[in-house]
Amino acid sequence: MRVTMIPGDGIGREIAQAMMQVVDASGAKIEWEIVHAGETVLQETGELVPQAVYDSLERNQIAIKGPITTPIGQGYRSVNVALRKKYDLYANVRPIRSVGQTPSLFEGLDLVLFRENTEDLYAGLEKKISDDEMHSIKVITRSASERIVKQAFDFAVSHQRRRVTVVTKANIMKLTDGLFLEVAREVAKAYPTIEFTEILVDNMAMQLVINPQQFDVIVTENLYGDILSDLMAGLVGGLGIIPGANLGRNMAIFEAVHGSAPDIAGKDLANPTALILSACLMLEHLNESEAASRIRQALDQVLSHPDNFTRDLGGHIGTTAFTNLILAAM
Ligand code: NAD
Repeated sequence: MRVTMIPGDGIGREIAQAMMQVVDASGAKIEWEIVHAGETVLQETGELVPQAVYDSLERNQIAIKGPITTPIGQGYRSVNVALRKKYDLYANVRPIRSVGQTPSLFEGLDLVLFRENTEDLYAGLEKKISDDEMHSIKVITRSASERIVKQAFDFAVSHQRRRVTVVTKANIMKLTDGLFLEVAREVAKAYPTIEFTEILVDNMAMQLVINPQQFDVIVTENLYGDILSDLMAGLVGGLGIIPGANLGRNMAIFEAVHGSAPDIAGKDLANPTALILSACLMLEHLNESEAASRIRQALDQVLSHPDNFTRDLGGHIGTTAFTNLILAAM
């Protein structure tokens, strides 16, 4: 199976190298088509995403990417936002789970967040009214709400999950969040075996901190999902271990939740776990579940010893040594 691989910026190349070594050792038959996007190619070509990247994505329809730096300044859009929009990657899926003995605030936490990826306040509809007044328009549609809620419920059924919780602020934004909630309630009726609960986003933030075990699969709008997923990452050891998937009807792009970490780039300090776990999600998507569980077991084993932690987890080991430990455990 051929997969588009975009190493990205900052720590991207280091963690991409580690991820490909681990996947190659897992027994999965992946042919990497490596194309470059981001700051590095911007300097060479004047484009953040050269045409070759789009061609490769459209040919393979499946990709894994490292983080890409968004250059600061007018005129540069985030590559991630651009790809999500262009290929209608409407579902951002983030499993929140501790690995091995990584420093986690709660034992055995295992949550999955489904974040709507295409609308809400991220629609980019902003307007200057005057120097003292700016407007941003929140867009929520029935069709986009329906497909993300359905995806969360379908996932719950196929992964033997017990509960789906929808998060909104429908008591205040009665039309937009009201529609998202109304659609969720309708969709839930078609899944009688899955318990459906609803919660307001402010209460959700508190409940996640005091009693996250009550949740299972969570589905929410774009902005709430963005914020809550970072909060949830903090519950289980931070951004270095949280993978992600951007799913559309015809394309899937897998990536870690974290950014390009310019402060540690090129220093052999990056934790490749989040990208390696993103590769596991990709392998499961490609029906290579055995290879994925081989990698998950090796990660669990290696991360069961604090001596093997990278610096972000409070340890001292470098990217290369950590990757070698995973390879040895497979
Ligand atoms: P960041 O996630 O890159 O870094 C935040 C902190 O976490 C830093 O201290 C960093 O060293 C640490 N960190 C992140 N990933 C790590 C890892 N794998 N191992 C060890 N430590 C890790 O966030 P930032 O500094 O706000 O963003 C840097 C750049 O990345 C920005 O240009 C931003 O736009 C971009 N970004 C890209 C993506 C993406 O491509 N998916 C996502 C978020 C941010």
